[in-house]
Amino acid sequence: MFVAREPSPVRSTCPYCGVGCGILAMADGTIIGDPQHPANAGRLCSKGSALAETLGETTRLLHPMWRGRRISWEEALDRIATTFAETVARHGPDAVALYGSGQFLTEDYYVANKLMKGFIGTANIDTNSRLCMASSVAGHVRAFGEDVVPGCYDDIEAADLIVLVGSNAAWCHPVLFRRMMAAKAKRGTKIIVIDPRRTASCDGADGHLALRPGSDVALFAGLLAHLEATGAIALRFVEAHTAGFATALAAAHQTAPDPQRVAVLTDLAPQAIADFYAEFAATERVVTFYSQGVNQSSAGTDKVNAILNCHLATGRIGRPGMGPFSLTGQPNAMGGREVGGLANQLAAHMSFAEPADIERVRRFWQAPRMAQRPGLKAVELFDAALDGKVKALWILATNPAVSLPRSNRVRAALAACPFVVVSDCWPTDTTAQANLVLPAAGFAEKDGTVTNSERYISRQRPFKSPPGEAKPDWWALTEVARRMGFGESFSYARPAEIFREHAALSAFENDGARAFDLGGLAVLSDADYERLEPVQWPAPKGGRGGGRLFGDGRFMHKDGRARFVPTPWRAPASAPQAERPLLLNTGRSRDQWHTMTRTGLVARLAGHASEPFIDMHPLDAEAVQLVAGGLARIESRHGSTVMRIRLSEDQRRGEIFASMHWNDRFASSGPIDRLVGAELDPVSDQPEFKVTPVALRPCALHWHGLLLRRGGSGVLAGAGFYWSRAAIEGGFAYALAGSAPFAAEGEGPSSDWVAAILGASDLRDLVVYADPAKGVFRYANFVEGRLEACLFLAQDAASLPAQDLLAEMFAASCVSPLTPAARSRLLSGKAASGRSAGRTVCACFGVGRETLIEAIAEKKLDSVAAIGNALRAGTNCGSCIPELRSLLPIPG
Ligand code: SF4
Repeated sequence: MFVAREPSPVRSTCPYCGVGCGILAMADGTIIGDPQHPANAGRLCSKGSALAETLGETTRLLHPMWRGRRISWEEALDRIATTFAETVARHGPDAVALYGSGQFLTEDYYVANKLMKGFIGTANIDTNSRLCMASSVAGHVRAFGEDVVPGCYDDIEAADLIVLVGSNAAWCHPVLFRRMMAAKAKRGTKIIVIDPRRTASCDGADGHLALRPGSDVALFAGLLAHLEATGAIALRFVEAHTAGFATALAAAHQTAPDPQRVAVLTDLAPQAIADFYAEFAATERVVTFYSQGVNQSSAGTDKVNAILNCHLATGRIGRPGMGPFSLTGQPNAMGGREVGGLANQLAAHMSFAEPADIERVRRFWQAPRMAQRPGLKAVELFDAALDGKVKALWILATNPAVSLPRSNRVRAALAACPFVVVSDCWPTDTTAQANLVLPAAGFAEKDGTVTNSERYISRQRPFKSPPGEAKPDWWALTEVARRMGFGESFSYARPAEIFREHAALSAFENDGARAFDLGGLAVLSDADYERLEPVQWPAPKGGRGGGRLFGDGRFMHKDGRARFVPTPWRAPASAPQAERPLLLNTGRSRDQWHTMTRTGLVARLAGHASEPFIDMHPLDAEAVQLVAGGLARIESRHGSTVMRIRLSEDQRRGEIFASMHWNDRFASSGPIDRLVGAELDPVSDQPEFKVTPVALRPCALHWHGLLLRRGGSGVLAGAGFYWSRAAIEGGFAYALAGSAPFAAEGEGPSSDWVAAILGASDLRDLVVYADPAKGVFRYANFVEGRLEACLFLAQDAASLPAQDLLAEMFAASCVSPLTPAARSRLLSGKAASGRSAGRTVCACFGVGRETLIEAIAEKKLDSVAAIGNALRAGTNCGSCIPELRSLLPIPG
């Protein structure tokens, strides 16, 4: 139900990625882009465009649950407060831990950080930003003296060269990528992509360097040496505003004594390296965007500093169209960094390394038990829970049983920890292991602020009442603090009070020592906060945009100088092995977000990639007898699972890619992070997600299946065969496959087996077609004329009907019972007339690949614009444009 609020529409912020697009929640329930928001000027990507479809409440967590039993909030909060207090009394404050999220609002983050570091007395509070941004934070602090992204999005339009390093921005930051492409069309901006994979971001790029995974340091060390050798160093800038150039240059020379050495380390052609170096050296206005391919690495911090070194050496920083730019993964990873949500941060960009900072924060908070040192970081935090050192753990707004490396070990840690509380909106693999589950308010119901990649603080405003007893995280944290006896310091009645305190702390005894200073916002009235326009820090100085930092050459180290950081070459911590010869890389799919709790429920987001998959080069597949569409067992040192194979020449030989989103609730494969090791960057402790040695072998299959069904949790737990589900209108479609026969030869499956898979209790109107000789069995179950579920089984996948045609009939049956003719067509396998549209390419308008191929051929479409005119594909969010272009006879 939408809350009646004036004025309508409600201005808020997309809860997905760090681009931080403004949205308008309209009175009719639709959500559109906010034309006035500086990040997106009204644009949204496929995920943002489908936000309104994620607001259903049927799968939400509604009540506090203690070991499966509903309890009151009072009882739940008392339990947490009592257990935390007893744990601290018996085992010390470090036996308590909290694991938060870049999905937190800043106000949630602030209260959590204050409670743990100032009042419980431990810095054992870390966040899933450790998996995402920790290396960028560490790199910024080393180079600049503070965790600051110097540039802003307007640099896209001002740049002449954009370098994308380890970033598939076309899928992961789509609105920014469209801005890049628009800049290219308008002013001829060159775009060079540096990524082991050929991704959608290579579409329209001027160059792609498919380097060996983990070799970025060598490439940028070589660039630093090249800049020096060709006289491209900004000597006056380096002299006046930096320190450590000679040492960093010496390290670069050692790593990259000549271009041939760079070619050997990176596996790139010497000419490609030379071209990139020449382009970078010759272009004043260059922005280097980087993301998880840089951060999620056992050398992530050095990669960041190798990039920053090149920008410092050329003085290309903090001025229009130039600078290094860390693209933030999560919607409020930046806000988390501002409050000090990482275990090694203090608060408001202050540091545990400075005793004066600890004392300053203590005085500001009037903290009775101030943490004195950094706490446990994500991987070690869960290891400590497994070892029995952490005995009470509260996880909020994140799903570590899926997203952390060695996720089997994380699950063991959750099982071992005596007291696990999980706050979330939906059931997840992590809530399944909690003692206490708390229903959290979701993005449409929350009130607070988020900060995007370019330091813009935007309001997230509620436009919907929380379902059931769901509550905001800041409220639950505050209530626990009060019950622990800290009520005076946690007397917040509303988020505006928390924000003012957060802003005041940023300005407290600051005097220019920290760039992060929201002093101007510390005096906002409640009404001002309610009306707050997006504002960029350092803020505000006569306008909403604080603009770029460091353009004046003044950095945040005490001497005002930036630091060059030597980045000696270290090979990736993991390498191919004889028994595991392939390297597994993990990352995002275009239309899914994190562990699919929200996007996994939207039919039009499920069609682009409907199953967990492995992308691999055809020659690698051939070498182990794998075929497109087949199932493979993939095995690492940490576990194994079964996934679908896709062949792709976009993969380098010897390297495979798997999507990070799927989990136990959506597929039998579970999370890919079960296989990923926990090799940590030595500076940031961010885990490596891009290089895991694995082996693959084919799975022999006896049968294949397609199931469509409504209702239930949708999970086929313990089914004993491969399954994966994808949202369709009115339910889910499941791909099934079995490596063992479901019955003796010539016989059909048992009725119990069929009933269990159909999820049916009422089988009075079950229609069956069986051809045992061919191994074909089909079932359709109707309740009051409505198609509740249908199941198709066959010995080969090609004998199964097209899912999209069946899904059409399934959706139609929601509205009215199927006609007798439609019922008989259903089991004939020809569910509806017409041809399959194929896999979804354009999610906004539901245009499939086969439809596109047909239209391109028949209508002789020769451009993306022509496709848009004919089919509308690509005319809304633009996320599919790279794929549309690839379907054209002459891509362009
Ligand atoms: Fe949301 Fe897409 Fe904008 Fe990211 S780019 S904030 S996911 S609409």
